[in-house]
Amino acid sequence: MNRVIEKNTKALFFDLDGCIYYGRKLAERANELLELLRSGGIRIGFITNNSREDAAEIGRKLSGMGLRLNDEQIVNATEAVASYLTERYGRVNVKVAGSESLRRAIAGQGHRLLEWEAREIADTIVIGRDTEFDYRRLQRIVDESFRGARLLSTNADRSHPGEDGRVIPETGSLMAAIESIVGSSVKSIGKPDNCLYELAMRAYKLTPSECVMVGDNLATDIAGADRIGMKSVWIRQSGSDLQDRLPIKPTFTVGKLSELYELLLSEREYSDYRV
Ligand SMILES: [Mg+2]
Repeated sequence: MNRVIEKNTKALFFDLDGCIYYGRKLAERANELLELLRSGGIRIGFITNNSREDAAEIGRKLSGMGLRLNDEQIVNATEAVASYLTERYGRVNVKVAGSESLRRAIAGQGHRLLEWEAREIADTIVIGRDTEFDYRRLQRIVDESFRGARLLSTNADRSHPGEDGRVIPETGSLMAAIESIVGSSVKSIGKPDNCLYELAMRAYKLTPSECVMVGDNLATDIAGADRIGMKSVWIRQSGSDLQDRLPIKPTFTVGKLSELYELLLSEREYSDYRV
């Protein structure tokens, strides 16, 4: 029988927005699900394309919503993009279109931040969910890109779900404006790229076949898991009709997180290898 948790499964990685919570509301049964995994010796991690907050801020937000955490790994695009820059290019001069946390994470890795007004052309412009993004900044990014600045994006999501079904514009929608002018697609380190999955696996010293990715976005969470060789659980929310047309096959599909909890409970009941 095909199970979410098999003998060799060591960790479940969860997306956050639209999976563990919606806007500021915790998904039903989120705590029970995490407890069930802990009691079965399965490790838990969170992999998020969030580019506005660092791990500590995300941890506080989750606790504030009532999620009980045990120091689990929170891998996010905010901090990962800074590490990516260091690993690939060493210390570079960076202009940041994004949050204060993104700027801090990049400066924290020893990169030199340039202000937008600076005449100096950046080595790299990092683009995250920049809530101050406007026409002047777009012009600046285009100017510097044509003069040799490398463009790098935290994540390619066009939107994420907010409370009460609201659609929140994401980094990908800003990237679409930039790419339409620079004429090429910009590298993004968020899911579905391997980068965040690799950081999460490295933290727990695991291989893809030992992990399962759970998320609501077929094009990012599930496509990335598939690409790296992880099993996946797709949380297919109502209003996902557009995603249905994508040629991406999750290993399992549930309607909401609480259904995954029920599924794991039933797996455990019939399991001959876990208590
Ligand atoms: Mg999501």
